Parts: sequence; C-alpha cells; structure tokens
Amino acid sequence: MSDVERMIEQEKMEPPATGIPLLHLPSKNIFKKRGERFSSLARKHPDSGYLGFLALLSEAQHKALGHLTSSTGKSAEEGKPGKGEEKSPLTCLASGDYLWINALHIILEEMKKADIPAPARNTIAMLMRMNENELEVKREAILDWEPDRLSPAELPFIAASVQVYQVNSALLFENRPFGREVNEGTCPVCASPPVCSVIRAGSVENRLRYLCCSLCGSEWHMVRIKCASCGSTGKTGLYSHEGSDGAIKAESCHNCNSYLKILYLEKDPDMDPVADDLATLSLDIMMDEEGLLHGGANLFLLNGGT
Ligand SMILES: [Zn+2]
Ligand SMILES: [Zn+2]
Repeated sequence: MSDVERMIEQEKMEPPATGIPLLHLPSKNIFKKRGERFSSLARKHPDSGYLGFLALLSEAQHKALGHLTSSTGKSAEEGKPGKGEEKSPLTCLASGDYLWINALHIILEEMKKADIPAPARNTIAMLMRMNENELEVKREAILDWEPDRLSPAELPFIAASVQVYQVNSALLFENRPFGREVNEGTCPVCASPPVCSVIRAGSVENRLRYLCCSLCGSEWHMVRIKCASCGSTGKTGLYSHEGSDGAIKAESCHNCNSYLKILYLEKDPDMDPVADDLATLSLDIMMDEEGLLHGGANLFLLNGGT
C-alpha cells in the first residue's frame, strides 16, 4: 500500500455512525452566511466580480426567504407528505405553486438596487415582464436538472429563486423523522444531487461525512467508504493543489471515474458548500485534466451547472 493509499484509508476510518443525526435541514440563515462567505472569498479571488455578484444575490435570497417563512400559507402539518410518501418528500408537493415567483420578484427588486453591470440589469427587466407560465418553464429547467435550457444571464436569478422556495419547503419538515434512503447519493428531502460533501468537526459528528444538497440546502450522512455517485466501496483517490492547506480536496472513485469535493470544516468552519465549490474551480480543471467527471452539481456554475 502506497503512502497516499494509506492516508486515504486512514481518512476513511470514521467513528461508528450510531446515535447521530442522519439529516440536517437547512438553517434559516443559510443564505445570510453564504453571502458573507462569498464576500470574504471575493476579496482575494481572481474571479472577484462573479463571486461579489453572488454575495449580493445570496443577501437577496436571505431577504426573500425571510418573506416566505413569514408569509407562507402552508403550516408544517400541511406541508408534510401523506402516508406512503416516504421518499424525497419535496417531490410529493404539488406543482404549480407560484410562491417561488414571489421569491423571484423580491430577489429581482433587491438586485435592482445593487451596483451590478448593465447586462444583468437588462436581464432583471426581462424577467420582471414575464408572466407565470413563462417563468414556470424556467423553473422546470432547474427541477429537471437541465440548466442549459436557460441563458447564462437568467440562470443565477432563476436558480436563486428556486433555491429559496426549496429551502422554505424543506423548513416545513422540521420535526419529521428521516431514515436512510435507498439512493443515498441524492437528497432525501428534494432528490437533488449534492454540490459537495463536508467532514464535520467536533461533537458526536466529528470526522463524519455529510453530503450537501445543491438545491434545498439539507445535509445528509453518508459513510466515507462509499462513493456518492455509484455507491462503490472500492478504491478512491484524494487530490488537492500542491501547497494548499488541505481544507478542500477532491475525492475520486476508480469505479465510476467521478469525483466530489470534500470540505474539512476543522480546517475552516466558515466554508460554505456552494460558495467554496465555486471558488475552487481550479481544482475542477485539475480533475478534468485527470479525465475525471464532476459528481457534484452547482447551479451557479454558468457553463452547465453539473
Ligand atoms: Zn435537497
Ligand atoms: Zn463511484
């Protein structure tokens, strides 16, 4: 066994996953914290323009979520799935709920006040003029995981609004017990793919891995030994940039040839799955050069999202 393989095996040794939460629903402050993280990353990043724009967008999402949580007509009880709807409860909610458009309009109004480039301003004006049916087609592109159906200019606004709606819906499941899913590689709340995974630090969850939902912000436990994409427990590889502090690595699977980023919170507890994924695209380029496929999905990645 090589030194690298030994290190991977060592890393994969987790404490037994008994008596630990299998699921963490998103916090009401998820977008506030994300905005702060984007701001902090933008200060010293070559792509500071886009990260700064996403900081503003996250702040607008926070405002929209606050509005939805205080005005939603659904009670937690109404939002819960009925008997027999045990899998991915958000997929059981009825379509045609235009609450997400309320979120979109709040986000667009907030962004109009911000210092943003003229093309983004034009996109806002165009989205403001669209009716419910036209907008619903755009939401479907997000829920079908086909962001290429949207223009790069409109994608961030639509994705941000659907995220707010999904987080608000996930918050309705506050007290619902969740078990393990058959397909552990997708979110047990909304069935979306993960953006990346985090290794938690401290308390009973120390060194445990949670996958982070790209859409509703929930995090669910999955043992390190398994590949999140194919479920294989075979050989894996760990990659990071030479000289980096090791807070973010990419773990590859030899079985399906994919990789997923891992955020080590003990090295930096302020990291955010969506923001830090976007701020480390050079790691994706390195993995692409190795011939590996991205197993995570990030809706704010403008060249395709997955
Ligand atoms: Zn989810
Ligand atoms: Zn795999």
